[in-house]
Amino acid sequence: MTDTQTPATTIKPRKLVEFMPEYHPPLAARTALRLDFNENTFAPSPRVIERLLQSTSEGLTKYPEREPVERIAAAHFNLAPDQVLLTNGVDEAIHLLCATFLEADDEALIRTPSFFMYDVSVQLMTQNLIRIQADETLQFPFERFLQAITPKTKLMMVASPNNPTGGVVPREHLLAIAAAAPHAVLFVDEAYYHFHGESMLTDIAAIPNLIVGRTFSKAYGLANLRIGMLAGNADLIRYVRKVSSPYNINGIALDVLPVALEDDTYVRWYADQVATGRDRMAAGLRELGVEFFPSHANFILMKIGLKHRELCEAMRIHGVLLRDRSSDPGCEGYVRITIGIEDHVTRALEALKISLNEIGWTPTK
Ligand SMILES: *Cc1c(COP(=O)(O)O)cnc(C)c1O
Repeated sequence: MTDTQTPATTIKPRKLVEFMPEYHPPLAARTALRLDFNENTFAPSPRVIERLLQSTSEGLTKYPEREPVERIAAAHFNLAPDQVLLTNGVDEAIHLLCATFLEADDEALIRTPSFFMYDVSVQLMTQNLIRIQADETLQFPFERFLQAITPKTKLMMVASPNNPTGGVVPREHLLAIAAAAPHAVLFVDEAYYHFHGESMLTDIAAIPNLIVGRTFSKAYGLANLRIGMLAGNADLIRYVRKVSSPYNINGIALDVLPVALEDDTYVRWYADQVATGRDRMAAGLRELGVEFFPSHANFILMKIGLKHRELCEAMRIHGVLLRDRSSDPGCEGYVRITIGIEDHVTRALEALKISLNEIGWTPTK
């Protein structure tokens, strides 16, 4: 007989963990068109699948070897191997940065709205998470961000393009922030680099406190394999490497990464699909009278207003998943839609027209 009941325990986690809100991304049964998590909506490079199928049974028995692939990734990005650390997605990279650099009395600086993982990882290390809230334009609050820097600032995390807005921070502003806080690490999260095309990667050689993050979850279509990258000053990366498990990335992800990097044509094709689809979606939204934030990423943040929940539900019934961002600070009434390949944009636009009509949405409500 099996007993699934466990005996009661009085053990509590750290206070901080006990009172931390639980994060339940709505991942269950996503069989509809997935326009809710900003993934590649189609597939990775066919060469990745080819490589994947060459995996052997013996290969699975081995601990993964990260270093040779790190050298290949470094060369691909014109960096030295000691400037690069491969991570279990950028999520792990954020966690490692916080664990490496934040003492309990240090301050970490982020702007909101932004990526949720910054909050979680910072708060495990310090209570001094400083959030700079964007005004109603949702633009990066550059002046107030600069003013919030103190001698205790140790880590600043800025996504550009940002999630959930799709807005970017100009390079000059990022350089000014790095220069204003030489005692702090500036982490620039470039998860959506391929849909924008501007990067701080080439600034690493000149800016000693800069670390850039890249993920292979979005344009490369490898979200399920969990692989990302940190690149920066070799001294800083050496500290982060000390905290990381040497086996943090599975061998299958390591096997396919060089092939994924090599197939430039594929990633450019996918980024082109998104660029075209983003323009089409923007035109469609204008036609429907839906306001939205101009995006440099593979998603668009739409201002729906009071009927945000109804729209997500109507779209779900029509087979398209969206992400309601209303609970993000300053995003009441905003809904995010991922831009995928052309056919998926077409389906999304059709479903949007029908759904907005069904819920009786008008541009003023
Ligand atoms: C999606 C996303 C990531 C997550 O990347 P993983 O490599 O899948 O962990 C990181 N940063 C931002 C801003 C994102 O939107």
